[in-house]
Amino acid sequence: MTTEQYAIEGLKNVLYIDLTSQSYYVVERRDLYEKYIGGVGVATSLMLEEYKEGTGPLDPEMPVILSTGPLSGVYPTCTKVVALFRSPLNGELGESYAGGHLAMSMRYSGYETIVIKGVSQYPVYVAIHDDKVTFRDASSIWNLSSAIDVGKILREIEPGAGRRSIIRIGPAGERGVTYASVNVDTYRHFGRLGLGAVFGAKKLKAILISGNRELKSPEHSAYRKTFNMLYDLIVKTGLTEKYHNLGTSENILVLNELKGLPTRNLQATSFEGAESISGELFAKKYLLRRVSCAGCPIGCVHIAMLKRAFSKAHEYEALNISYDFELIYALGSNLGVADPEAVLELIDACEKAGVDIISMGVVLAWATEMQERGKISTEETLGLKLSWGDKAAYLRAIDLVVQAPNDFYAALGKGVVYASKKYKGDDFAVQLGGLEIPGYHTGLGNIVGLAVGFRHSHLDNAGYAADQITFNRPLSDEEIVDLIIEEEDRRSILNCMVPCLFGRNVYTYENVILALKSIGIDRTDDDLKALAKDVFRKKYELKKKFGFKFENLTLPKRFFETATTTGMIEKKRVRRAIEIYREKRGV
Ligand code: SF4
Repeated sequence: MTTEQYAIEGLKNVLYIDLTSQSYYVVERRDLYEKYIGGVGVATSLMLEEYKEGTGPLDPEMPVILSTGPLSGVYPTCTKVVALFRSPLNGELGESYAGGHLAMSMRYSGYETIVIKGVSQYPVYVAIHDDKVTFRDASSIWNLSSAIDVGKILREIEPGAGRRSIIRIGPAGERGVTYASVNVDTYRHFGRLGLGAVFGAKKLKAILISGNRELKSPEHSAYRKTFNMLYDLIVKTGLTEKYHNLGTSENILVLNELKGLPTRNLQATSFEGAESISGELFAKKYLLRRVSCAGCPIGCVHIAMLKRAFSKAHEYEALNISYDFELIYALGSNLGVADPEAVLELIDACEKAGVDIISMGVVLAWATEMQERGKISTEETLGLKLSWGDKAAYLRAIDLVVQAPNDFYAALGKGVVYASKKYKGDDFAVQLGGLEIPGYHTGLGNIVGLAVGFRHSHLDNAGYAADQITFNRPLSDEEIVDLIIEEEDRRSILNCMVPCLFGRNVYTYENVILALKSIGIDRTDDDLKALAKDVFRKKYELKKKFGFKFENLTLPKRFFETATTTGMIEKKRVRRAIEIYREKRGV
């Protein structure tokens, strides 16, 4: 197969699934792939085509789009799938990335992108095996208490082992918790912004996808050479070593030392219990093994083993629980939990419920402070006393948020913005753009990056990395904004390829050009940079259609009350930096 044939026979197929009529069809969209290469570029264009003005996040016509890239399954660490939807959490652009086996399975099945529309009359799961798409009654797995069990059951009853992926929701998605996640295979997720609630509203319990299509490597020496070069960069240099070694949980002690680790609802940025929930401690006492997404030689997914007694007769169960920095921050330092086993149990409860752990941690931290301040009563919490570090209370609270037995817990299930407006505590609701914050309070770059990011995530533009530079050399606010824009553009390109961003320093512009060329896609540096601007414009067009306005961005007081790694930050400085960003971006 020549590289030209490879490019032609490769990316083109979009599978459209209609849950209302239980039908499907496939369209070749070579036009979109030629223009946008794949991933988020193709998904954004499709969303603009599909979106009908005024459609709400949970309306039947609102599509969910899953998209892979041209390098998926072809080059190492190109493992992710982007999900595009309208977020039920903040009403804005829902964009989330997951690894596992999904990208590989989609390409094995011959569908580079999947568009899901409509709503089923009853719970269904969709089984995609090569060119056959079947809609199966999921009533018997609806209402199960654990998203993990759903995966176990589907693995038993569906074919395709070894070449398949199973994505599914838990009780939080079924019940409309607006930050419900979609669990992907084992230990991976579409975590942020509530895709799980969108699945729930569509009565879509799971999608299983497998295929037998051969993903042929182009017989071209350039491909082999480029593959080996990228592989060596990943495994033989220090570029990705951190992720395999301690993993991102290495950041706990680092950020704690730098006073940038949000603690007790961001009332502080260092935690006296950091040592006992550090990556080092987890590695020493609980780390069982590391696993990888399909096609990744890094293996960053750290699995802890937790032995838990379940009867007085010394009976134990062994739980395998994956952990990383964000989870330990959200359910550890931010809830004042210094017991590592308590952190693991809280992670496990969220995994089973199928919720975004960062959002859940921030919501519970906010509720704890509200109760401390006497702004909510034990009548509202149904007798529960939330206090920092109290594992039992937080385990119960997670369950109550999912079950929503009263208005208070239902409000918590709609996110910290909704709850803080209803119960008047928005000064210390630590969110930006309606998304609960990740585990950094490093300075101006972080706050501005989260505020202006497409989806208000640290993964949009890594604003915290601009702050890191200022530890060593001063930067003007304008320079910080420039770094944010530069990184945002770089990630827009990468997200068209959909590699794991842990490999971002391997996939430089230069290496992306080489990788694309070896599979028959010719792009220059200028082409990629122009594409980044185009993707930016398209995503902003979509954001505006979904109602985003810079004027509506709120900056909660708490960000300016707690010192960051780089000192106290003033609100007016953030506002000014956002204006600089807008001017430079023309938005
Ligand atoms: S680095 Fe981790 S998350 Fe990224 S592809 Fe590899 S195993 Fe998956």
